[in-house]
Amino acid sequence: MQPFIYDGLPCRVIFGDGTLSRLGGEIDRLGAKRALVLSTPEQSKAANDLAASLGARAAGVFTRATMHTPTDITEQAMEAVRSSGTDCTVALGGGSTIGLGKAIALRTDLPQIAVPTTYAGSEMTPIIGETAGGKKTTQRTLKVLPETVIYDVSLTLSLPAKLSATSGMNSIAHAVEALYAENRNPIISMMAEECVRAFARALPTIVRDPKDRDARSDALYGAWLGGACLGAVGMALHHKLCHVLGGSFDLPHAETHTVVLPHALAYNAGAAPDAAGRIAGALGAKDAALWLHELAKRLGAPLALRDLGMPEEGIERAADIAMQNPYWNPRPLERIAIRNLIASAWKGDPPAAH
Ligand code: NAD
Repeated sequence: MQPFIYDGLPCRVIFGDGTLSRLGGEIDRLGAKRALVLSTPEQSKAANDLAASLGARAAGVFTRATMHTPTDITEQAMEAVRSSGTDCTVALGGGSTIGLGKAIALRTDLPQIAVPTTYAGSEMTPIIGETAGGKKTTQRTLKVLPETVIYDVSLTLSLPAKLSATSGMNSIAHAVEALYAENRNPIISMMAEECVRAFARALPTIVRDPKDRDARSDALYGAWLGGACLGAVGMALHHKLCHVLGGSFDLPHAETHTVVLPHALAYNAGAAPDAAGRIAGALGAKDAALWLHELAKRLGAPLALRDLGMPEEGIERAADIAMQNPYWNPRPLERIAIRNLIASAWKGDPPAAH
C-alpha cells in the first residue's frame, strides 16, 4: 500500500426518492428560519413551488442563477439576501445554481442546503469558480462546501436525456481523474470505480427511458460519488483542458467534458496503467478511452468540439493556454501531443495516445 493522506469533508448527505419533503426539517436542523430559494430562470417554477411549500420558512426566491457564476448576478442575489433577512440558502438545480449558493456563502458564511438536479457534482466540493470581466477564477475553501445535500431521485426525472448523458459523462470525468490524481487515496479510488460502474449501468437506460427510476437512482448515486472525488483530490489534464476550452471559447460545460474525456484519458492511460485498468474494469471494457467515446456516440452526445462552436483556429491558442501555468499530470505535458489531442477532439476522431 502506498502512503496516503485522506481528508474527510464535513457534509451531511440525504439520499433517496422523495427526500425533498425533508427540507423544512433540515432548515430547522441548521438553526435557520428564513431560506432563500435559488434556481436558474428555467427552473423558476420548481423554485417558486418549493418556496410556497416552505411557508414561513421561505425568505423569497431568486431565479437568475447563470452558468459560470458571474459576479454581477451574485451581487443581485446579495441584495435579495440583505433585503429579505435570509439566514440560509437552498440551491435547487445543477452546478450553476449551486455555484450561486456557494458565492453567497463565500461572502456571508450563510449555511447552504444544496438540492442537485443534474450530475455535475458541485454540491460535494469546496470549490467555487466565479466569472468577472470575462475571466473565470477558481478557488478552494471550506466556506463554500454546502452543510447539507439532499439528493432526491424524483427531481432528476425531468432532466432531458441528452443533458443526462453529458452531465453523467461530466461526473465520470471526476472519477477518471481521481484515479490518477497526484494525491489519490484508496477510499476515493473505491468511490471513483463505483461512480464509473453506476453510470455505465445507468446512462444507456436513461437515454432510452428518462423516467426509469432505478437507472435515475443509480445515476444520482454515481453523481454523489463523482462529486466526492472532485471535492477530495486534485484534478489533472482533462479538467484543465475543459476549463481552458470553456473559458476561451464559451463552450457549454457538460458537453465539453463529454467530448474531451476519452481524449484526455487516452493521453494519460500509458502513464497511469493502474488507473486505466481500474476504469476499464468498472466499465467492462478493454480500452476505457475508446469505450467512453463509443458510449457518448451511443448516447447521442456530441463528439466534436467543432459542433459545440469552437473555431478551428482556436486549436493552437487552446494548446498554448493549456501549456501555461504548469500543473500536475501523470504524463508530462507535451505541446505537440496536446495540440494533436485538441485537434482530434475538435474533429470528433476516436481517441488516441498521440
Ligand atoms: P446547469 O446547472 O447550468 O444546468 C443546465 C440547464 O439544465 C439549466 O437550464 C438548468 O436549469 C437545467 N436543469 C437542471 N436540472 C434540471 C432538471 N432536473 N430538469 C430540467 N432541467 C434541469 O448545468 P450543470 O452542468 O449542472 O452545471 C454547470 C456549472 O456548474 C458550470 O458553471 C460549472 O463550472 C459548474 N460546476 C462547478 C463545480 C464545482 O465543484 N465548483 C463542479 C461541477 C460543475
